[in-house]
Amino acid sequence: MRLVIKFGGALLEDQDTVRSLAQQVTTLAREGNEILVVHGGGRLFTATLGRMGIESRFVAGLRITDRETRDVAVMVLAGLLNKRLAAAISAEGQPAIGIAAGDASCFRAEPLVHNEVAGGLGYVGYITGVNVDFFESLWRSGIIPVAACLGLGLDGELYNVNADQMAAACAEYLQAQRLIYLTDVAGVLNGHKIIREVNCEEIGTLADKRVVSGGMLLKLEAAKRALEGGVRNVRIVGGTAPGALLSAAGAKRPGSRGKRKPPTRFRGTQVMLHPLAAPGSEAAITA
Ligand code: ADP
Ligand code: MG
Repeated sequence: MRLVIKFGGALLEDQDTVRSLAQQVTTLAREGNEILVVHGGGRLFTATLGRMGIESRFVAGLRITDRETRDVAVMVLAGLLNKRLAAAISAEGQPAIGIAAGDASCFRAEPLVHNEVAGGLGYVGYITGVNVDFFESLWRSGIIPVAACLGLGLDGELYNVNADQMAAACAEYLQAQRLIYLTDVAGVLNGHKIIREVNCEEIGTLADKRVVSGGMLLKLEAAKRALEGGVRNVRIVGGTAPGALLSAAGAKRPGSRGKRKPPTRFRGTQVMLHPLAAPGSEAAITA
C-alpha cells in the first residue's frame, strides 16, 4: 500500500513519541508499504522566531512570511526537525532520508494568493507538483523519504507550505491509497468524545457550530482536498497512543506460531467524501 503519514509538530517534541512512531513506521515499511512521512513543526518555528527576536504578524490567522521569517522556517523545518526525524527512523534499522523542496525538485510550489495578490503573505506557498519518479526510486531502494513542509518556487525561492495541505497534495500526486494525520489529540473531538466519522459535507456545519476550529479545521479541509483528489482513505488519529499508527494503517499484529492476528480497530476519525449510505439504499448496494 502507498501511504502518506503526516506527523503533527507537537509529536516531534517528545522523544519517546518520536521513537515509538519511528518503530511503527519501520514495521509498516517492512511489510512492504511505500511510505512518505510529512511533518509540521509550527511550535518550534514560532519559539525559534521568538528566541531570535523576530516578531510574527498574522493576517486572518496566516503568518506573514518575509524573507527573514522564511529563512528561520527553512532552518527549523528542513534543518533540525527534518534531520532528527530521519535519524529516529534510520536508528530503527530502516534507512530514511530527510528532504525538502528543491532536493531533486521533489516539491514544487507557487505563492499563495491572498487578497487577490499572489505572494500577498510573502513566502507562503502551495504545492503544484511532486517528483513522483524520485519517490518511486527511493522506495525501490528501500528508503523512506521524510519531507519538511516547504516547496520550491519557479523563482528558485523556498516557500513555506501548510503541512496538512502538503500531506494532502502529496497523497494526491503520489496516488496514495491512504493518508494518515497523526496529531496531538485522539481525533476530531466533540467535547471529550471522538467523532468516529466525519463526511466532507459536515465540515462547514462543525465549523459554524464551533465544534471544530483552528488546526483541526485546517486538517479537515486538507482531508477533503485529498478525498476529492482521489485518495480513498483519510484518517485523523492521536499519535501518542501506543500502536496508534499501526492500527490506523490497518497493519496485522504478530500472533502465535507465525500466524498474524487481524488489526485492532483504530481509534480516531475516518474522514469520508460522502455521508454513509443507509443500509438497503441504492448507494449501499452498489458500493
Ligand atoms: P497538528 O500539529 O497535528 O497539525 P494542530 O494544533 O494544528 O495540530 O491541530 C490540532 C488541534 O486542533 C488540537 O490540539 C486542538 O487544540 C484543536 N482543535 C480544535 N477543534 C478541535 C476538535 N473538534 N477536535 C480536536 N481538536 C480540535
Ligand atoms: Mg496543524
